[in-house]
Amino acid sequence: MEFSLIDRIRDLTAQARDDVRLGIGDDAALLAVPPGQELAVAIDTMVEGVHFPVGTAAADIGWKALAVNLSDLAAMGATPAWALLALTLPKADVAFIDGFAAGFAQLAQPYRLALVGGDTTRGALTISVAVHGFVPPGKALTRSGAQAGDVVLVTGTLGDAAAGLQCVQRHRRSDDAQTRYLIERLNRPTPRVAAGLALRDRASACIDVSDGLLADLGHICASSHVGAELDAAMLPRSSALLDLFDETTSRDFALSGGDDYELCFTVPAQQVAAVQADLAKLGCGATRIGRVVEGEGIIVRDRDGHPLASSRQGWDHFNA
Ligand code: ADP
Ligand code: MG
Repeated sequence: MEFSLIDRIRDLTAQARDDVRLGIGDDAALLAVPPGQELAVAIDTMVEGVHFPVGTAAADIGWKALAVNLSDLAAMGATPAWALLALTLPKADVAFIDGFAAGFAQLAQPYRLALVGGDTTRGALTISVAVHGFVPPGKALTRSGAQAGDVVLVTGTLGDAAAGLQCVQRHRRSDDAQTRYLIERLNRPTPRVAAGLALRDRASACIDVSDGLLADLGHICASSHVGAELDAAMLPRSSALLDLFDETTSRDFALSGGDDYELCFTVPAQQVAAVQADLAKLGCGATRIGRVVEGEGIIVRDRDGHPLASSRQGWDHFNA
């Protein structure tokens, strides 16, 4: 449908790549996977009002729709290459498309990621992006390799996006820099692609934090048949989060808030210093937050080593 809309998307996201033999405009794209590489593919859907607040700027939606997918490739240690975009729009809205494509392209450009096709339909605002990336055989990071004794680390800071969502929902004035920072972290998450690549030969397990640290580290634990112990005092939190929210709230956001798109990963103890040095160079850093233990479930300890009492839904499940 709507060829002018598709033309606009194609022009605004144009990215020349030799491995795209045929891009947008035919019945299917033709793509050449480089010899000696495996294809890593992922898809994520965002529904207005569910995955981003109603009223989010079109450019932010375009950025985030790609960012959440690049984050999945980052968590696998894959190099991004191509994307497909299925757009469902309430109406043929040129201003929305131009903003959306600009936000999408802004994030795609530094990765030279090419949008090679998609689908455009009418309905409630819903965006699905599928991404494709390359990884050498056997080098992908998975959720299943964590071993007792490994150290648990996380990139960047946690809880900012959950705090940003609360700012939006409470109509907090965004004329102070800290509120703006938190809302930016919600709307424009930074996928940790370079960090994922740096972890390829180092991390025993890796996941991106989309549903909250406890939930996502819980997936590593379940896949790896291990448990984890976290030190609440070590959770990396931004100064904006700490300044605007009290200790308990910021800790709960860091443990259970979603949408941060940081990487949570495990490494053998003797690799920690090298990994932290590498990720510091990449700008995001990596903070040691706990350790992998035998058994199952996650225990979060306070400064004195006492397990924290349950304070949010979803917590007991992991602490049981
Ligand atoms: P078809 O009926 O063959 O699926 P479409 O009209 O849906 O054709 O799409 C025409 C071309 O435009 C195809 O190459 C398709 O991949 C591309 N396309 C459609 N919608 C989008 C979109 N939202 N983003 C990128 N490419 C799109
Ligand atoms: Mg189609």
